Amino acid sequence: MFNCDCCGLCCRHISGIKMLEAFDDRTGTCIYLDRDNDLCTIYDSRPVICNIDAMYDIFFSRKMTREEFYAMNRESCMRLKREHES
Ligand code: SF4
Ligand code: SF4
Repeated sequence: MFNCDCCGLCCRHISGIKMLEAFDDRTGTCIYLDRDNDLCTIYDSRPVICNIDAMYDIFFSRKMTREEFYAMNRESCMRLKREHES
């Protein structure tokens, strides 16, 4: 299982992600992010790109193991945290 701490950083930095273009509030934050608790307000119907297991099953399962895909995503989380949390 992917270990997400619900920091909301990925949902605050969606600029340049084609599949989330319509979700961008023009500041790079998703319109569906609840700014009070950093949770997704459409979690059960969120786009595939926001669902790590769905992304793995559909696009990456033939390229790497699920653990490798989780590790790759964890690295992206850590990069966001390094860049935006002090
Ligand atoms: S940046 Fe990573 S840890 Fe933070 S909410 Fe997104 S997926 Fe979860
Ligand atoms: S749809 Fe939900 S999970 Fe996806 S970027 Fe927006 S708030 Fe985050």
